[in-house]
Amino acid sequence: MVEDLVIIGSGPAGYTAAIYAGRAQLKPVVFEGFSAGGIPGGQLMTTTEVENYPGFAEGVQGPKLMQQMRQQALRWGARLITDDVIAVDFTQYPFLIASADLLEVKARAVIICTGATAKRLHLPGEEKFWNNGISACAICDGANPLFANADIAVVGGGDSAVEEALYLTKYASKVHLLVRSDRLRASKTMQERIFNHSQFHIHWHSLPISVDGDEVLRSVQIRDTQTGGVADLTVSGLFYAIGHTPNTQLFQDQLELDEAGYIKTQGKSTATNIPGIWAAGDVQDHVYRQAITAAGTGCMAALEAERWLSERQLSPADGTPTLVSFAA
Ligand code: NDP
Repeated sequence: MVEDLVIIGSGPAGYTAAIYAGRAQLKPVVFEGFSAGGIPGGQLMTTTEVENYPGFAEGVQGPKLMQQMRQQALRWGARLITDDVIAVDFTQYPFLIASADLLEVKARAVIICTGATAKRLHLPGEEKFWNNGISACAICDGANPLFANADIAVVGGGDSAVEEALYLTKYASKVHLLVRSDRLRASKTMQERIFNHSQFHIHWHSLPISVDGDEVLRSVQIRDTQTGGVADLTVSGLFYAIGHTPNTQLFQDQLELDEAGYIKTQGKSTATNIPGIWAAGDVQDHVYRQAITAAGTGCMAALEAERWLSERQLSPADGTPTLVSFAA
């Protein structure tokens, strides 16, 4: 049995691709993932209130949003498998996808939506205050009342850190940027926007080593990376902006990736360098990284896959593949 379409991953990109592909009667098989990304549903499963997803005027809980997308995918005939993909072979056609439970599926087309994981420091106390003061997404969580007119800290010195820190000045009275070295990696333009900004305090050679609080975060302990001295910083928020790791380990030797490990897509499409394989969501996007942009590219990938399959008369689901050429 060869499937028309296999979708790997179950964040907003994966489920949106599944909804569109389901409605196009491709009966997509979706590997939701089990432990690879923590839990099925992607990063929104560990978010609380999502206030910027259109259509929810009062906001929506991240897990609730994902549950709704999952239900919608099921309603349109997606076949969901809660298992991690552990190997793929894109050198053979139909493509081969193997899961941890030793399921092997052959597919005429594949959409990869495995996302990216925000790096964390895993400080002592971090789990307790995750979503109660600690976050890895200013745009998602900055408007939380916890941070209104409060002092907060952002860890990192790249473009993400500066961008998130600038965004947080809308809510916080003061933003402490904790930089482990004596320089920012962020672009000069971004740097200029925070130097001399009255709401910023840059702490050079500073690394958080633990967090403390009661019901919510109250302080961060910081070590001076030069002297080893330790000091407490009173803050209500700690935002990690120390980079993301795209979940592309499975595809490293098979698809073209950029220097940071994100899957390269072509032009305005979600096409990868292998015809018949598309990538959507954060696994191919290190700039926007929003649920809505992930969902948007999931939609694009499903439409592109459906057209590609139709052009090659490889759809509907049953029947022998008649692929003649891989020429783009
Ligand atoms: P980067 O890898 O550029 O920066 C990561 C930052 O986090 C660095 O300052 C790094 O310090 C610091 N860091 C890493 N690990 C630790 C740690 N364990 N403890 C403390 N600090 C740590 O990641 P970004 O997410 O900022 O950017 C990724 C890519 O996306 C870049 O190419 C960036 O230009 C791009 N981007 C572009 C944007 C835009 O154009 N608007 C917005 C956001 C990102 P150190 O320098 O010492 O290694």
